[in-house]
Amino acid sequence: MARRRKLYEGKAKILYEGPEPGTLIQYFKDDATAFNNKKQGIITGKGVLNNRISEYLMVRLAEIGVPTHFIRRVNMREQLVRAVEIIPIEVVVRNVAAGSLAKRFGLEEGMQLPRAIIEYYYKSDELDDPMISEEHITAFGWAHPQDMDDMVALSLRVNDFLVGLFLGVGLRLVDFKLEFGRYYNDDDEMQIVLADEISPDNCRLWDSKTNEKMDKDRFRRDLGGVKEAYQEVARRLGVLPEAGPMDIKGPQAIQ
Ligand code: UDP
Repeated sequence: MARRRKLYEGKAKILYEGPEPGTLIQYFKDDATAFNNKKQGIITGKGVLNNRISEYLMVRLAEIGVPTHFIRRVNMREQLVRAVEIIPIEVVVRNVAAGSLAKRFGLEEGMQLPRAIIEYYYKSDELDDPMISEEHITAFGWAHPQDMDDMVALSLRVNDFLVGLFLGVGLRLVDFKLEFGRYYNDDDEMQIVLADEISPDNCRLWDSKTNEKMDKDRFRRDLGGVKEAYQEVARRLGVLPEAGPMDIKGPQAIQ
């Protein structure tokens, strides 16, 4: 295959120039990082699993009318997406107290929140993704008030839908992070669309019966069985690749 132009390399993904103008190839790596890069590791097969899981969730969301950047999965580790202008904000939606929220307010992990809570963080490795309010976002021009309204409405729809979808496969959607982008159509009209990925890398998913963690917290907290947990999420969603999470097939016995 001809060498493609790499446009951006992040912690878990690489973006390449796409085959047509206005498209990109999103490549899912096995690299895992936590605590703003202070903890690094490789989870073999994670990229393959996240590619499938994110594809599945983006397709289901598109079916209920949530606009996303996703076009189609290309292969085990890559998907074709629309090129969008990423809004430099992480939108975190929480249903259950965990992680930084539990710490900040001294809440017990696992406490059901009275309603879904939305938080914003400014995407900046140098600044350690500081928490921000809508005031900062609009005052500094990262997004317009109308963009904010769209992002909040979409985030709540995504949350309601995903809570139900995951509950149907025995998983509790504790919290997750979304990213949005501005997509300009052929008539140069702008639309806010869901971008990035939705996977156990950026969701907290607990088994609904045992509360066992089935997400990146297993890596963050050295709980072991990280790959197995991602694999189980994929299996429950019905998207576990037949060959398992590995994209390189082992030697096969020839009769
Ligand atoms: N999250 C993420 N990227 C980040 C920070 C958070 O995907 O840079 C996700 C995380 O996986 C969790 C949710 O957002 O599902 C809330 O994370 P929290 O603020 O509790 O941060 P943590 O304590 O996990 O760093």
